Amino acid sequence: MKKKVVLASGNAGKLAEFGQNLAPIGIELIPQSVFVAVEAEETGLSFVENAIIKARHACAASGLPALADDSGLEVDYLMGKPGIHSSRFAGEDGPHKDAANNAKLLQALTAVELPERTARFQCVLVYMRHANDPVPLICQAAWEGHILLQAQGEGGFGYDPLFAIAGTHSSAAQLGKAEKMAISHRGQALKKLIAALT
Ligand code: IMP
Repeated sequence: MKKKVVLASGNAGKLAEFGQNLAPIGIELIPQSVFVAVEAEETGLSFVENAIIKARHACAASGLPALADDSGLEVDYLMGKPGIHSSRFAGEDGPHKDAANNAKLLQALTAVELPERTARFQCVLVYMRHANDPVPLICQAAWEGHILLQAQGEGGFGYDPLFAIAGTHSSAAQLGKAEKMAISHRGQALKKLIAALT
């Protein structure tokens, strides 16, 4: 029988992506919506803290082990911003949030030349066996690149159209889902998690 683990996220895409990759190691991912009425408030000052807060909240609500992820974009010229505030960088939520975030990012980098536009996506995955787990398993990975002068590509989400993959002329929005997962911050962190759990 598969081991039940709660995914501390309401994102259906993540459930599918993580679920597919964890099934072969005997883990059945259950969405936290089954147990959690109100999502955890992300009051941490780092990806690690926020992922722990989310995982702990899901463990407490379900009585099961939980997996949480927290991710975002770090732009060197902006001293690491938008960082943990990537999701609501432009202050918007809802269907136009990504466009507003990307517009704000381009604006913040006006007149900044390509060599100074280095950036990376960060992903932290946290696995907790129970709400009081004193040693959460933490797996982190970064995906290096730079911020383009204009959007490129139609796929992906978030900052993908502005994120040029290091050493290439392609943006993350020009990759297929599987291609992106093979090299992205999230894909690399997940590989580490799978290695740690097996
Ligand atoms: P979360 O950890 O899923 O809440 O992601 C936080 C925010 O970081 C997202 O809303 C995006 O704006 C940004 N982000 C994280 N991962 C990616 C990615 O793979 N592509 C584009 N944007 C991302």
